[in-house]
Amino acid sequence: MKALEAQPRCPLGFWPTPLHPLDRLSAEIGGPRIWIKRDDLSGLAFGGNKTRKLEFLVGGARQLGCDTLITGGAAQSNHCRQTAAAAAQLGLECHLALGGEAPKQVTGNLLLDELFGARIHWCGEQRKGEMIPQIEAELRAQGRNPGVIPYGGSNAIGALGFVAAFAEFTAQTRALDQSMDGIVFASSSGGTHAGLLLGARLADWSGRLLGIEIDKGLSNGKPFAEWIAELANTSASLLAVEMDFTAADPILCRDYAGPGYGVVSSLEREAIRLLAEREGILLDPVYTARAFGGMLDQIRRGVFAATDNILFWHTGGGPALFTGETIFK
Ligand SMILES: *Cc1c(COP(=O)(O)O)cnc(C)c1O
Repeated sequence: MKALEAQPRCPLGFWPTPLHPLDRLSAEIGGPRIWIKRDDLSGLAFGGNKTRKLEFLVGGARQLGCDTLITGGAAQSNHCRQTAAAAAQLGLECHLALGGEAPKQVTGNLLLDELFGARIHWCGEQRKGEMIPQIEAELRAQGRNPGVIPYGGSNAIGALGFVAAFAEFTAQTRALDQSMDGIVFASSSGGTHAGLLLGARLADWSGRLLGIEIDKGLSNGKPFAEWIAELANTSASLLAVEMDFTAADPILCRDYAGPGYGVVSSLEREAIRLLAEREGILLDPVYTARAFGGMLDQIRRGVFAATDNILFWHTGGGPALFTGETIFK
């Protein structure tokens, strides 16, 4: 798509990420056939879905001559880790507004943030980048030119990464001569969902895009579905196409967000063990394990037909397995 190719973009990942079937797992559950899209192998600092958004976000920041990147998230944010790695690769300074207090033990994503030389600002209760404007003002006062990357990389520019990702997916399924009936993924700050929604509409794809909600509560003061629709519409306007997504368009399943963000329950533990033991693939405890466990539960409840082909979009997050907390007792 020409309008997408015309957007500023900074190469950070290795594309396409692999797409392959999970035959041992599919045989065990007795249908539908499960496939996986390996954005955990995107290549940037242990990979993940934020690499796709960052290519467009960092591309835009570089066009504005930014010498610094600022973003924020939870202490174990995968988005912050990938942003810190991108900054290191490009010789930019990186500031991270992280939720919580400085922990005694620096592990997982936080350890990687420090290895990439990011400056950490501890923000207590504020784990969704609320302190970014204050940090930005301070850096400007010091004469720096910071580029702000929103929480989760989820704005209309970041979502373009998943418009491009959807085109990558359709090219792969065409080459395999294999159609998919559904795509299941973890949905949290909305950029992945919005980009896939727009990409699917642009491709005239009629499968089912099912986002498993990871976090409860409002997104930027709005119900989550409304926020996703708004992002998708704004991304469309960046590509000079008119779209009219509404809150009725994103398909969301909230059934598994109950325990709260980052709270690991038996759903996540069982999903991690199952995929590790049957396929040698690792899920992360916060996002992909909840989404994969949720998908298996939806299958058990008969949401998909036994003859369907379902793609699980692996969005990364592996370093959170090494946070020193006891996920497995
Ligand atoms: C951020 C993240 C997600 C959610 O993507 P959004 O675009 O924020 O909805 C899913 N999985 C992992 C591993 C993530 O880091």
